[in-house]
Amino acid sequence: MLEHKSYVISWNLTRRCNLACEHCYIDAYQGKDDPGQIARVGEKVAATFSGELSTQECFTVIDQLAEASPQALLILTGGEPLLRRDVFDIAGYASQKGLWVVVGTNGVLITETLARKLKEVGVKGMSLSLDSTQPEKHDRFRGVQGAFRNTMEGTRILTREGLPFIIQTTLHPNNLQEIESIANLAHTLGAKVFNLYFLVSTGRGAYTTTLTPTQYESAMHQLLPLQKAFAGKMLVNAKCAPHYQRILYETEPTSPFLRTFNLGAGGCPAGTHYLGITPNGDMTPCPYLPVYGGNLREKSFKDIWENSEVFINIRQRKNPVPPTLSSTPVFSPSPLVGEGRVRGKEDGNDRKEWGEGGIGLGGRCGACEFNSACGGCRARAYGETGNYMAEDALCSYEPGKYDFKEISFPGAATYGLEEKMDLVWTQEAQEAISRVPSFVRGMVTRSVEKMAREKGISTIDTELLQEIRNRLPAHKLFARPA
Ligand code: SF4
Ligand code: SF4
Repeated sequence: MLEHKSYVISWNLTRRCNLACEHCYIDAYQGKDDPGQIARVGEKVAATFSGELSTQECFTVIDQLAEASPQALLILTGGEPLLRRDVFDIAGYASQKGLWVVVGTNGVLITETLARKLKEVGVKGMSLSLDSTQPEKHDRFRGVQGAFRNTMEGTRILTREGLPFIIQTTLHPNNLQEIESIANLAHTLGAKVFNLYFLVSTGRGAYTTTLTPTQYESAMHQLLPLQKAFAGKMLVNAKCAPHYQRILYETEPTSPFLRTFNLGAGGCPAGTHYLGITPNGDMTPCPYLPVYGGNLREKSFKDIWENSEVFINIRQRKNPVPPTLSSTPVFSPSPLVGEGRVRGKEDGNDRKEWGEGGIGLGGRCGACEFNSACGGCRARAYGETGNYMAEDALCSYEPGKYDFKEISFPGAATYGLEEKMDLVWTQEAQEAISRVPSFVRGMVTRSVEKMAREKGISTIDTELLQEIRNRLPAHKLFARPA
């Protein structure tokens, strides 16, 4: 059996888009077809394989995904995935194969007919992007007038049609002061989850990442009270901010939100239980990380997941020889992706320098006590240095505060557990648990039964589920903003 399984797959079906967001990481464009001009690491020219995968090719990929990880959560996104005429066929085929399918959209194109049809083919939910509570600001950010109004209408339609949705916000200097008000709006609109994305500096976002580490940290601190305020009502997550684990640990060491993945890969899930697929079939550890392991037109999913250098490397967080403090700035050619360097004094940053590790994470991330619980954002490391194993420059932590001893949290998350019900579950409770994505359902079922036993309860009903939900955060849904 594979040690690492692909539980969450983010698939950019197209680069075509009806909006022109400043922060777009895939550099989406408005046009009729997709030439697939996605530059690959190590190649000066565009990808060898051009063009979107055809419907039939998508079906073949889905067959492989379902075989490798039948409980996976599949996020169909873009560009704008709703611009693909075969989106219903692809979503329907994946649902039939047992995958848990959600659609990530900018929300502008949602109509009653579309929502109904998506539901009919088995789509379990939608994620919508919202970057401000002020229409003109959101429109400016998204590059199209009227985007806000259409997204608001989209949420109303989804509510009427009974298709659950989550709201995703991309953090930006212009909405830094709006986190709470966007969360309030998301809740009022009926979102199940509010995800705050910490912008990763790839794609067009490379030109808009102007937040400092201090601003990042302050945004994460703003999330703590929001998570508490919305407990049991709406799940509030920091996304692509793996060091939120460290902040939580230092602020509230008993927080139920502190949880690592069982294979020592908490924080950033890239390549350990998460991956991205580009429109032309390149497979990457994360959609924000333009480093590919292989192309699905050329190799099988299993082959790339198990054997590609990128996927193997990115899982090596720990360095057998821990990086040491170096008195001079380190400029090391990356063994992995061409020239890379660690930001240093020459950048006006007089932080201590940590040497590159060789195998495993480099810089501060390699030396850090939170390495297995956090790992730093690999896409950000790549964006900053050209080396996806370098440190995450937007974390302000200096390792050593806890004597370099690994910090781990109790209750590691184990995905893909067999769903087993030993206690009696009412019909309604069974229906409620069936709405939990399959890759976490086994784990949730076991946690619920454990808590029921502790309370001396032998029948699980919706009242008990709600009580548990109020006390514990729901398990995170991985998704990303469109
Ligand atoms: S590499 Fe960064 S953007 Fe990708 S999953 Fe990890 S934290 Fe998120
Ligand atoms: S130094 Fe790296 S591993 Fe440590 S908390 Fe910061 S981002 Fe995470």
